[in-house]
Amino acid sequence: MNLSSTLATLERLVAFDTVSSRSNLALIEWVANRLDDHGIKAYVQPGDEPGKANLFATIGPADRPGVMLSGHSDVVPVAGQDWTSDPFVLTERNGRWLGRGSADMKGFIACCVDAIPRLVTAKLSAPVHLALSYNEESNMHGMRLLAAHLASAPVKPAACIIGEPTRMQVVVANKGAAIYRCRVRGFSVHSSLRDQGVSAVEIAAEVIVFLNALQRQLNQAERHDGFEFPHTSVHAGMIQGGTAHNITAKDCEFVFEIRALPGVAAADIVGRIREHCARVLVPRMREVSAECGISIDEIMDSPGLDERGNLHLARALMPLCPCEGFGRVSFGTEAGMLQDAGVPTVVCGPGEIRVAHQPDEYVETDQLVQCRQFLDTLAARLERGPLTPA
Ligand SMILES: [Zn+2]
Repeated sequence: MNLSSTLATLERLVAFDTVSSRSNLALIEWVANRLDDHGIKAYVQPGDEPGKANLFATIGPADRPGVMLSGHSDVVPVAGQDWTSDPFVLTERNGRWLGRGSADMKGFIACCVDAIPRLVTAKLSAPVHLALSYNEESNMHGMRLLAAHLASAPVKPAACIIGEPTRMQVVVANKGAAIYRCRVRGFSVHSSLRDQGVSAVEIAAEVIVFLNALQRQLNQAERHDGFEFPHTSVHAGMIQGGTAHNITAKDCEFVFEIRALPGVAAADIVGRIREHCARVLVPRMREVSAECGISIDEIMDSPGLDERGNLHLARALMPLCPCEGFGRVSFGTEAGMLQDAGVPTVVCGPGEIRVAHQPDEYVETDQLVQCRQFLDTLAARLERGPLTPA
């Protein structure tokens, strides 16, 4: 297989600096123009912040449920990372193509864009949709908007493949990813009079101790042996607070995450944390000062991917790609949002997650070849009939 045009496309995609904090519009416009070259009009969905957009396009008969190929256009930052080449210039080294997003997940998008001419000339019995989202690496708001659009569309895709790097293995389940910020408001006095104040640092510590107790309960509850850590996990990763050793801290805040097993709602777990704060901690704080309090705000909540909704899709895809069985991953993806919108979804794409987000991120040539072959096989399969019963 001649990869030169796929690599030229990947080179162009990597050159767009689409770090999540920046605009992705230039990339979206570039892909829309590639579609337009082949007579396909893309729907560009404005984002919920300036400079951001999703793209959705349909190749083939739009009046039938089809197969959606989905990728996020944004990448993680390169600041502070020790790259040996310019992260925004695709660079070859021993069969590896280095560049920010090469694995996560512009390699997949390049393969999809390069498959457009093949898909346009195919006599597809069911359409192929191309979807690009924004902010997957930050708050997942792009896919939240796109999933809402699809949920109310007259014809919904029958299936979706998200091309996150899985070495082209079909992944049927992933844990949810939810992030929260807990802010504690204490009351400042000189620490020699500590009973007349409330240390926000000490209260935050009590909340974190409660998170640990909750984790021990979760470890006794539901388990799913498909995941390396087989339980829902709760983890506090950042904390800051206080101004001096001899002042009871007025403010302390910490950020924690919940990686919920598919079918478990992070919101329910946060509800238990809020209930503990309201019942045990806040009344004690307010005995000292009515100004004290604890608030917990959601930064992001994306649901897990539950394999019960997509095994039929995975079985239909297995013969089309070089995979050995179903997999499950512990990193969050947009798949759960699509599944919740009624679109059965699996994750399958070139490259490996191990190198994603790292300096010198790369995708191997043979992974791109496998992905291109998979898309060709998918096109041929869709010429014979729909992938799954509608
Ligand atoms: Zn990704």
